[in-house]
Parts: sequence; structure tokens; C-alpha cells
Amino acid sequence: MNEAPLLSLEHLTKSFDGNEVIRDISLDVHRGEFITLLGPSGCGKTTTLRIIAGLTAPDSGRVLLSGRDVTDLVPNKRNVNTVFQNYALFPHMNVERNIGYGLRVRGENRSEIQKKVNHMLELVQLSGYGQRMPSQLSGGQRQRVAIARAVVVEPDVLLLDEPLGALDLQLRQQMQLELKHLQQQLGITFIYITHDQEEALNMSDRIAIMYEGQFEQIGTPAEIYEYPRTRFAAQFIGQGSLFEGEIQSIQGDTCQVKLPSGTIQATCPPMGATIGERVAASIHSERIRYDIAPQQGFNLPAKVLSHRFSGSMLRTELQLNAGETITALGMEAVSELPPVGSDVYIHWLPRHCTLIKDS
Ligand code: ATP
Repeated sequence: MNEAPLLSLEHLTKSFDGNEVIRDISLDVHRGEFITLLGPSGCGKTTTLRIIAGLTAPDSGRVLLSGRDVTDLVPNKRNVNTVFQNYALFPHMNVERNIGYGLRVRGENRSEIQKKVNHMLELVQLSGYGQRMPSQLSGGQRQRVAIARAVVVEPDVLLLDEPLGALDLQLRQQMQLELKHLQQQLGITFIYITHDQEEALNMSDRIAIMYEGQFEQIGTPAEIYEYPRTRFAAQFIGQGSLFEGEIQSIQGDTCQVKLPSGTIQATCPPMGATIGERVAASIHSERIRYDIAPQQGFNLPAKVLSHRFSGSMLRTELQLNAGETITALGMEAVSELPPVGSDVYIHWLPRHCTLIKDS
């Protein structure tokens, strides 16, 4: 993208009581992007969002909106709005008045407000609910009102802090689709926080994986899933295994990596590799295959420990020679697979295995 970023975070830092919780983070967000900050509890996601909103001041670094430094501006002077997990609707106002609140504060005229509120009710599929009070709505409906109230004022950026976190799984999945659809229709830039990787992979144009106050990796869901760049990113996204090993030989863009249990093949890291270098090999569980007969390529000897059903997939635990266990996910019927206790050979396509170098 060549367009200037709508929002830039430049070298932000923040400490609380001597603990540095945001450590020199930088990020450019483009107009209309849906970007997710994904990371475990306490990694600094909410603090980052609060800095963007103007609710928390950074110790150093800058926040730029459309190229303008807003670091010292109070929240209502930034065209940024926030939706929190706990709805925060005005309990004494009906749905229409909740949604129209920001427009009334701005002094827009009544008929214009009514038009925009009706349009929002339609967009969030709540036409006919305008006269209801928040207490007469379900959790999902309340959160739709909160989102409508936040977007009706057409913010440049909408910040969403775990907005679906209080909903049950089925409703959350439905709301993920609705929210993504709404964002595309309105073209508003969303910065979304979650610790749920599936939610992030489902909805985002780009994901910033956050760990201990830093961005570990920023990329599209596919880039992050296929090519994790750090050990943390590899372990946090998807289900898989990470093996420590040493590069034994290189042929084209395939590296042979020596593990304690045998030798495997993987795609060489984009920044190159050298023989003897220590690396971590990352492979997703659904890409691991195993067979009683050796296959072409490489073969890692293992023993089948168990087969268990996990949702729609069959989960097989395998033990390697040096004792470590590895999980394979498949769709085969148990009767088609080597039984528990069998000696098998693990293999995969080298392009499915990514190597992570020590930084
Ligand atoms: P969660 O997913 O649990 O909400 P998070 O990634 O959003 O976590 P933050 O809320 O940004 O994390 O918190 C990052 C760290 O900063 C935590 O260790 C937290 O305890 C600390 N922290 C946040 N706000 C304050 C504050 N006002 N005073 C002191 N420490 C704080």
C-alpha cells in the first residue's frame, strides 16, 4: 500500500510502577484495515489501545492520526471511538437514544439523527428494537447497540477491546461474521483486541502478535499461520510442534535439520541459513503424516501412543525416539490407522515446516 497510514504508532513505551509493559512498539495502520492485536493476558493489548484512545499517556513515542501528532490530545479531540467488552450502554435510554447519543452531543439536527439511527439499526439487524431498553435485550443485541453507537459518529478508527468476549461460542462466531461484514460495508478502520487466535485469524486483514509488551510478528493471517517468525508466534498460532535442532545440509530451499530423534526436512528461512546453525522447526499438527512403511523424503521413527477424537478431527499422540511427543491431527477413521503401540514413520512436505532462527 502506498497511501500514507491513517494511524501510526511510533516507538511507544509505557511503564507502570517501574514495570515496562509496552516496549518500543511501532505500527502503521491503513485506512479501512481490520487489524487485530493478539496476545495472552497481560501482554499489553489494552494499554496499547488506551494509548491510541488518549486514555493513557505513553512515557515516550508518538501517536499520529492522518499524519498529525495526537499524542497529547484528550480523547474527545481524536476522531477515535472505543467499544469495550461490557457494552457500557446508558441503562435509562432506549436503543434509539443510545445509538443517537454521540450525534446529539455533536448538535446534529433531529431528522438527520433519526435517519442515521434507522440506518444503523438496519445494519446491525435491530430494526424494530429502537424503543426497547437495554435491560430488554440479550447480550448479543446489547453489543450490537454498543457497536452501532460507536460507528454512527463515523470515527476514523474504531477500537474494540474483546467486544465479543462475554458472548457464548455460537453467538461469538455469528457476531464475528457480522462485525467483519459491518466493517467492510462502512469502511471504518478497526483495531481489535483478542486473545482468541481463531477470532483473529477469521476476521483480520493483519494481525500483530503481542508478547510481553512487544510486537513479535505483524502480518496477514496466512503469513502468520504459514511462516511464524518467532518461537512464541509458532507456539501461539494453530496447534503444532516446535523442535530444536541444527542445520545439517542445504539443498536449494530445503534444509535438512538434525533433531535428537532423527533428521527432518524444512523450508530454509527467508534470510538464509548456514550449516551447523541452531534453529527451531515448526510444523502444524494437521500437516504431520505417519505410516508403518517409510516414505520418500525423510522419515522420523515414532510409536503411536493414542488416538482420540477432538471435535471433528482425530488426534494422534506419537512418541519420538528421544522421548518427545508430537501430535498429529487427521480426518481418517481410527480403523484405517496404525493401531496404538505400532512403530511408524513420521513425515511431512518440507514446505509445510518452517525454520525459526535465533534472533
Ligand atoms: P488482558 O487480555 O488480560 O486484558 P492485556 O494484554 O490487555 O491483558 P494490559 O491490560 O495492557 O494487558 O496490561 C499489561 C500489563 O500492565 C499487566 O501486567 C497489567 O497488570 C499492567 N497494568 C495495566 N494497567 C495498569 C495500571 N493502571 N497500573 C498498573 N499496572 C497496570
